[in-house]
Amino acid sequence: MTVELVCVGTELLLGNIVNTNAAFLAEKCADLGLSCYYQTVVGDNEERLSETLKTALKRSDVVILSGGLGPTKDDLTKEVAAKVMGKKLHMHEPSRKRIEDFFKKRNLEATENNWKQAMMPKGAIVVDNENGTAPGVIMEEEGKKVILLPGPPNELIPMFEKGIMPYLSKKNATIYSQTVKICGVGESKAETMVKDLIDKQTNPTIAPYAKNCEVHFRVTAKAADEKEAKKLLKPVVKELKSRFENHVYTTEADTTLEKAVVDLLTANKLTVSTAESCTGGMLAGRLMNVPGVSQVYKSGYITYSNKAKRKILNVKKGSLEKKGAVSEEVAREMAKGAAMASKAEVAVAVTGIAGPDGGTEEKPVGLVYIACSVCGKIKVKKYHFSGNRAKIRETSVSSALILMRQCILEYYSEVTFGKKL
Ligand code: ATP
Ligand code: MG
Repeated sequence: MTVELVCVGTELLLGNIVNTNAAFLAEKCADLGLSCYYQTVVGDNEERLSETLKTALKRSDVVILSGGLGPTKDDLTKEVAAKVMGKKLHMHEPSRKRIEDFFKKRNLEATENNWKQAMMPKGAIVVDNENGTAPGVIMEEEGKKVILLPGPPNELIPMFEKGIMPYLSKKNATIYSQTVKICGVGESKAETMVKDLIDKQTNPTIAPYAKNCEVHFRVTAKAADEKEAKKLLKPVVKELKSRFENHVYTTEADTTLEKAVVDLLTANKLTVSTAESCTGGMLAGRLMNVPGVSQVYKSGYITYSNKAKRKILNVKKGSLEKKGAVSEEVAREMAKGAAMASKAEVAVAVTGIAGPDGGTEEKPVGLVYIACSVCGKIKVKKYHFSGNRAKIRETSVSSALILMRQCILEYYSEVTFGKKL
């Protein structure tokens, strides 16, 4: 089944707001195994919206529209869509009642234009809106489906997940996917390593997605039921795992790199501290994303100046003077100092030149040293990152997480990395 997205709103066209609804909907549709070939943004204009919808309906089975379901005059998606689908609007009593209750509950008075939101196309499926007054609408006609969703993401997301996804998955074959997430292998290298599999596979399919320092392979199977789909996935996931070995940090969709690291610390009953210079607390922040990190996280030190590095982490004056703040020695001493000061088994330190200024020929912008100490065993790695200040800092944080994971695994499980790479 093919699906097409139409996001309605002049503010989207003007760039005043970012089209996060399109990103969300596209990803969810891919999860459902729907093929999305087109996305359009159109302003709050009757004629252009009508033309856009007609074009979309000619080439796609399902058209999902977001925005323009509000009570005001410029909100005209429902009126236009009903007209294109040849359906008349009528007062939908349950929706009218819901709107009435919505206002009563909040001690507010509904205005005349609010009732416009209870007008529904004849024969449409009305989808509840738990967070607002505009219900969602599904219209079906001659095998084509038009789905209308409210613009605000806090209304659209729960409505889509609860009301629309079950509807769409019923209309489609069962789709099941699993994501194999790998870290510490470059995007092109990773893709080359599985190119034969990607080319060969049609069901399941393998789709690579590159993220900062990570590559995710989404393996998607289509089958009559979930059991059958899982059976199709299993050997492919197994093959990916065997090719990337220890670089696979999870096959769970919800597990992030930081969660994998926190899980590893927890499993080995380890505590951790961070010492950061150029990342200024971002590494600690990434770890803090994980609920339950309090079990393992001890202290975070932001030591931006040399003085702070010396005073808080006991970095040697000589190392700073002779080697400079961005050096292997200082990274090592920062990790050591953080471990000593906090008595954590694991300590990670980041020092680098994030730019845009401060680079020299010898130490260019993007030069970063990351040190990881596990029970006194310290490993320091030198990196040359590219991009602007934000990108260099973000990449440094991801690389620190990857190095932590690697050091802990090497220490506790005696695994080696990069054997095949
Ligand atoms: P309302 O009742 O708030 O008018 P609506 O369904 O008419 O809802 P719009 O008027 O199109 O929706 O948009 C309302 C708000 O929702 C926008 O100001 C914006 O903050 C958010 N929004 C709309 N479309 C998108 C989108 N595609 N991506 C992200 N946010 C969006
Ligand atoms: Mg609106």
